[in-house]
Amino acid sequence: MKTYTSAGELQQMLREEKSNQKSIGYVATMGYLHEGHATLMEKARKENDIVVLSIFVNPLQFGPNEDFETYPRDLVRDENVAANAGVDFLFYPTVQEMYGEEPSVTVVVQSRTDCLCGRQRPGHFDGVATVLTKFFNIILPDRAYFGKKDAQQVAVIDGLIKDFNFPIQLIAVDTVREEDGLAKSSRNVYLSDSERMEAKELYQSLLRAAKAIDSGESNAETVRALIKEHIESHTHGVIDYVEVYQYPELKPLETLSGNIIIALAVKFKHARLIDNMTINMK
Ligand code: AMP
Repeated sequence: MKTYTSAGELQQMLREEKSNQKSIGYVATMGYLHEGHATLMEKARKENDIVVLSIFVNPLQFGPNEDFETYPRDLVRDENVAANAGVDFLFYPTVQEMYGEEPSVTVVVQSRTDCLCGRQRPGHFDGVATVLTKFFNIILPDRAYFGKKDAQQVAVIDGLIKDFNFPIQLIAVDTVREEDGLAKSSRNVYLSDSERMEAKELYQSLLRAAKAIDSGESNAETVRALIKEHIESHTHGVIDYVEVYQYPELKPLETLSGNIIIALAVKFKHARLIDNMTINMK
């Protein structure tokens, strides 16, 4: 595996590879890699000639009171995980390399942002879309791999790829979980021991909702109430949102039908955890 810090050098090298008909799979991350990230890289490895991983904690997608400065970072460990997952090229740029002093052009996302995490994090998806536009142009991947854990992000990137005509196939990968069901996340390290025990209840609440739906429940409000009740009675976390939407349109619905997403965000003392489940109601 070779590490690049220069966008220009990586771009030139990958353009040469592409002219030799090599297919490129791309995984974007903020590092502190775990098995969820590794699953994306391994899938990219199977489906492409070349695998590129970026590690970049992108300041544009963090709000003023968020954890940009303290976001966990460990390059040496990440290089090991990436090499073991079959990554060929690691792109690890500085903020200066990506944006210079100030970005002169940024991308604004027009829809699918006024709900879920977008409502709580104004500007977050503009930051994601801006950095991915740059990464897509630097790397020119054939396929880009993203986790369904960040379901709203997948919906926004789907729009970015289609609206900006990127010749890229978006591959959405199932959420990888700990044994007790907690979705793997770099931010899980912020949880105290007792919070970590409670955090498994987020997935349990989704499973409970899925079971109720399977038994015939079709009222969105009842499903939301059931999840809220479960989280409030099993954890000390504070609910940011519990929503049931059409997916991928992210439009609210009263009666469940078609493709739906049940999504939640819960704040613990130092970590805000998200999880979701998509269900096809048929
Ligand atoms: P992050 O480093 O948190 O920005 O995540 C980078 C990519 O890994 C995103 O596409 C995430 O959706 C994906 N990802 C993060 N956690 C998981 C997980 N537990 N399972 C699958 N994909 C994940």
